[in-house]
Amino acid sequence: MGSCAIVGINWGDEGKGRMVDLLTERYDVVIRFQGGGNAGHTVINERGKFALHLLPSGVFRPGVVNILGNGVALDPENLWKEMQQVTEKGVAITPENLMISDRASLLLPWHRDLDELEEQRLADKKFGSTKQGIAPFYSDKYQKKTILAGELFYPEELRSHLRELMTWKNLTLEKVYGAEPYTEEKLEKWLTESCERIRPFVRNTGAFLRRAQAEGKKLLFEAQLGSLRDLDYGIHPYTTSSNTLAAYAPIGSGLPGVKITDIVGVVKAYSTCVGEGPFVCEMFGKEAEALREAGSEYGAKTGRPRRVGPIDLVATRYGVEVQAATEIALTKLDVLSGMKEIPLCVRYEVNGEETDEFPFPTALASAKPVLETMPGWQRDISDVRRWEDLPAEAQAYVLRVEQAIGCPITYISVGPERESIICRPMTERH
Ligand code: GDP
Repeated sequence: MGSCAIVGINWGDEGKGRMVDLLTERYDVVIRFQGGGNAGHTVINERGKFALHLLPSGVFRPGVVNILGNGVALDPENLWKEMQQVTEKGVAITPENLMISDRASLLLPWHRDLDELEEQRLADKKFGSTKQGIAPFYSDKYQKKTILAGELFYPEELRSHLRELMTWKNLTLEKVYGAEPYTEEKLEKWLTESCERIRPFVRNTGAFLRRAQAEGKKLLFEAQLGSLRDLDYGIHPYTTSSNTLAAYAPIGSGLPGVKITDIVGVVKAYSTCVGEGPFVCEMFGKEAEALREAGSEYGAKTGRPRRVGPIDLVATRYGVEVQAATEIALTKLDVLSGMKEIPLCVRYEVNGEETDEFPFPTALASAKPVLETMPGWQRDISDVRRWEDLPAEAQAYVLRVEQAIGCPITYISVGPERESIICRPMTERH
């Protein structure tokens, strides 16, 4: 067993959190390498139900070191709040089990403002941003107009750097959006109330990881969102502003040369999508409502109802390819229980022709789903723990998905709890 990445294959919300929570048992270090507080990983364990946004999902495992790598959007204010919420439920968070890369860029207070102001300006053309400042943050990061977490150890230089950035950013706030400018007092408050609190967790995590690797420690890389939200490979411009692919994990974690041997792609047994953008397999009406209710498909961060549809085999196969997934965890199979017939989106129709290829983003708007159905299973499967105990129809469904996406399904999740899982090791596959 080498190093492993757990990644989303679709639009996000596939259930990555529960898979990381399950698999952290076998790993020593869990690393978040991209994204910020704009999505949520839900973890249910003996301490309760947690919606994690920035904290790695390994925080619940004693002895596991959790790292926020240089690729994340580090929002000190929200990170501190999240740390408080977890601590209140009896989970200790210390500089021994949480480490923040000194090379992580800080999400500055104006990034959230700019996100909100831009969505207001776009009005009905908005992208459905979660308004956590992620797009303005990454734009500024690539312009080198942010602060690195390690600068918190150089208070004088930090203040002068922050003043320069403020002067520059106030031009946009005032002249483009007609908004209130930032003041030094406001930033000082942010520094003392939020940044000071997270400073004890900041360190050279690259050096820590190189040492851990040399000692043979097992590393787990935890992604946020999914393939179709990747900045370069997703449904541009309805993507996020970071790279959600496993290939980015080495760069964003602090170990640029690491070889990731196992890439566990998480796929939901049906499709969901939050926010705007093309969603070819979308279902509407009563059927959609029933599926949304059955799967409690409401955003972990925003509470927004998720758009739902049958499993999209075209998008999923593409997602598997760009992630270079070596195995698949199929989640929420239990949610489909009781459906008489289960629809699957097997191909797209684009310009009157059927295709298996995931189209260029512009062509997605006119793509139509080609559906097939399979017989459902009329019983609850949430207590099933072995492949052979699944109803034949459920097995057939899993095998159909596996064959279509070209990647072995080694985990089947049948409930949100840690133990609600069927492990199907590759050697035991039928
Ligand atoms: P993530 O961002 O990929 O971690 O996904 P979310 O946390 O947004 O969504 C997954 C949701 O589904 C959470 O509420 C989980 O507790 C729940 N969940 C995960 N796996 C299963 C499953 O197999 N069955 C059911 N019923 N719920 C699940």
